[in-house]
Amino acid sequence: MSIEPEQAMEQVYDVLIIGAGPAGSTAAIYTARAELSTLVVHRGLGTGAASMAERIVNYPGIPEEITGDELVRRMHAQAESFGAQFVQDAILTTDLKSEPKSASGNQGYYRARSIIIASGAMGRGEQVAGEENLVGRGVSYCATCDGAFYRDEVVAVAGNHNEAVEEALLLTRFAREVHLLAQTPELRADPHLVQEISSHDKVTVHLATRLLGVVGDDEVTGIRIRPRGQGERTLDVSGVFIYLQGRVPITDFVDDQLERSETGCIQVGPMMETTIPGVFAVGDLLCNHLKQLVVAAGDGAMAARAAERHISGRERLQPDWH
Ligand SMILES: Cc1cc2nc3c(=O)[nH]c(=O)nc-3n(C[C@H](O)[C@H](O)[C@H](O)COP(=O)(O)OP(=O)(O)OC[C@H]3O[C@@H](n4cnc5c(N)ncnc54)[C@H](O)[C@@H]3O)c2cc1C
Repeated sequence: MSIEPEQAMEQVYDVLIIGAGPAGSTAAIYTARAELSTLVVHRGLGTGAASMAERIVNYPGIPEEITGDELVRRMHAQAESFGAQFVQDAILTTDLKSEPKSASGNQGYYRARSIIIASGAMGRGEQVAGEENLVGRGVSYCATCDGAFYRDEVVAVAGNHNEAVEEALLLTRFAREVHLLAQTPELRADPHLVQEISSHDKVTVHLATRLLGVVGDDEVTGIRIRPRGQGERTLDVSGVFIYLQGRVPITDFVDDQLERSETGCIQVGPMMETTIPGVFAVGDLLCNHLKQLVVAAGDGAMAARAAERHISGRERLQPDWH
């Protein structure tokens, strides 16, 4: 059930989940099903990575094409059917060590005995011109997800690190031609990847080249680039995969309560537990994590189980197979 912030402030919940993408929503399905009072705070439908996915075909059990938005809506409905409550608000600060734990948003102050952080990694700073309007229509952040839609087409990848190079290599399986744009004068990827991409006959590597913008009205038709020391020019491509600055984990409301990497990601143990008892983290905001819906959902299930154990006083957090 969707409720107003004032209503959510009236009680101390068993579980507060920050984020309602596949990670947070799945956690809510499990905690609510376990009869734990569950509040999910999220920034609204359409705000997470899942909601930006226009065509999902790799979520198990759903062979037909589905939008991320629809998939997330179904997860919300499922969690709500078990009694989870959803409130729309943006969390700004948290107190993870207090009992109960608390989180403050733009509109409310929420309390719970345990917290599951599931706010994703769509915190990338600046976008390039034209990018926002064409997400899902030629702009992508995931070749693993969308690469097959570009069979025999010309695509570009922007980024200079391992992830960008690996994704560019993956795209060579589908695309006719792949342009890799690195802002830096050299690639900052592992040497074997640099060697592989540099010698690949489908790939053109553009070093010291900035992505200035994405061109297209209803779908991507090209990108504007500027090689260092030269003028701007346009490359005709039908897809551009952007890995600039990574996808920044949204964990600013955690401050220094939890250790975060330079990029803001959170490390967890096998049951998604953080270093603070009763606080769990799941989904795209984790370090070294495969950013996929099914993984995020699996994380959510694990964290829900661990939260249930924390609340019932059974602190043994080992997975069941131990
Ligand atoms: C364009 C695109 C296409 C993709 N395609 C696929 C695909 O085909 N298959 C696949 O498996 N994966 C795909 N992915 C990856 C997949 O979407 C992510 O791995 C997955 O959504 C991660 O789930 P999550 O719950 O961790 O985060 P998200 O889905 O990003 O959800 C984050 C949630 O946190 C909330 N939130 C953020 N900040 C706050 C805050 N301060 N306060 C409260 N709430 C907050 C948001 O409102 C949102 O509800 C795609 C991603 C993109 C961007």
